[in-house]
Amino acid sequence: MRILIVGSGIAGLAVAKALELEGFTPDVVDRFNTPPTSGQGIFLLGNATRALGELGLLDEVHRSSFPIAAQRILSATGKLLNDVATDSFWGACGPCLALPRRVLLDVLLSSLKRTRVSFGRAVIGTEGHATVRTVDFEDGSRSEYDLVIGADGVRSLLRSSAFADAHPRSLGLSCWRMVVRNPGHLDAWTAMLGKRRTALAIPLNASDLYVYADCSTEEFADGSIPTLKTLFADFGDPLGSMISSLPANVVIHRARLEEIPAGRYIADRLVIVGDGSHASSPSMAQGAGMAIEDAIALADCAWLPMPFEICFCATLATHSTDAPMNRLRNDSRLSTHDVGAHSYPL
Ligand SMILES: Cc1cc2nc3c(=O)[nH]c(=O)nc-3n(C[C@H](O)[C@H](O)[C@H](O)COP(=O)(O)OP(=O)(O)OC[C@H]3O[C@@H](n4cnc5c(N)ncnc54)[C@H](O)[C@@H]3O)c2cc1C
Repeated sequence: MRILIVGSGIAGLAVAKALELEGFTPDVVDRFNTPPTSGQGIFLLGNATRALGELGLLDEVHRSSFPIAAQRILSATGKLLNDVATDSFWGACGPCLALPRRVLLDVLLSSLKRTRVSFGRAVIGTEGHATVRTVDFEDGSRSEYDLVIGADGVRSLLRSSAFADAHPRSLGLSCWRMVVRNPGHLDAWTAMLGKRRTALAIPLNASDLYVYADCSTEEFADGSIPTLKTLFADFGDPLGSMISSLPANVVIHRARLEEIPAGRYIADRLVIVGDGSHASSPSMAQGAGMAIEDAIALADCAWLPMPFEICFCATLATHSTDAPMNRLRNDSRLSTHDVGAHSYPL
């Protein structure tokens, strides 16, 4: 079967790995010239690590990760609101781990043995026909595939080509992400919740902390470091002083947060996975987990003779319904800003 995966993010590489394990040899293309090297962190909850285990990659990921034993939620003044032992919630599923995002991508990419991964190769269009799907590339070439997998992110061109009505929805939030030196005392996932403002720090190893902060997009303004410091000036310790002492030259990634209403983005030999199919608020920490679960579900049914669309939906449902966080998806966005009503981990 000729399979093209568009996108070499976590979703695209996980799909390639899962398909390889099933005996397929897919092609992966990405519009970027090189694999991403950005240094932010990523937090993997138990369903994500369970899924990595199914791909045979958990041990390697574990070796490069910081185990997160506790998730602590504090008020903006530093009062402890909730302290969850991750093992009590996720123990039966998998460990909760934090690591540099680049490392997770490196593990996925280097695990591919037969997949051809081409960087600097952008897809500009695709069309379904009776027995094949054609794909047009930016360099003017056109190829035919039996199955095309859109792992091309929240603004997926492949999704738009077949589902013109499915647009990303703004969450009304913008965020900063950076990696800083751990001042020494933070050993847990630690969030501080203010009024329409959240600060979060996650240890990546003994010396580095991944720091995330968000606020409403109106307040985000130019997203500069002085703006960040002003907006979080009333936050107490442990994160308030960390933000107020950020050096002017710290490397910061900024983003406007969007989501995609989860749906069945499957048609005519085209399947959309990962953020293109169900981007959700980062406060869920579910994007990577759901992307890897997509990959396993998709590969599970790729050999089956019945119509692929039906089979994939059924398999995906089986894989995802037992992930506790998936059941909380609709409520969790509120939890960032409404401490009183929700007490489960973000
Ligand atoms: C601020 C923030 C924090 C987050 N934190 C966490 C976390 O802690 N834990 C967690 O599990 N999840 C987190 N997520 C979500 C997680 O990052 C994603 O869900 C996950 O990375 C899956 O992304 P993806 O592979 O579907 O898409 P992407 O990572 O967006 O990859 C899409 C790829 O497709 C390529 N592409 C796009 N268009 C084309 C085209 N036309 N032709 C060729 N290539 C193309 C792009 O270049 C890109 O490489 C966070 C998200 C955000 C925004």
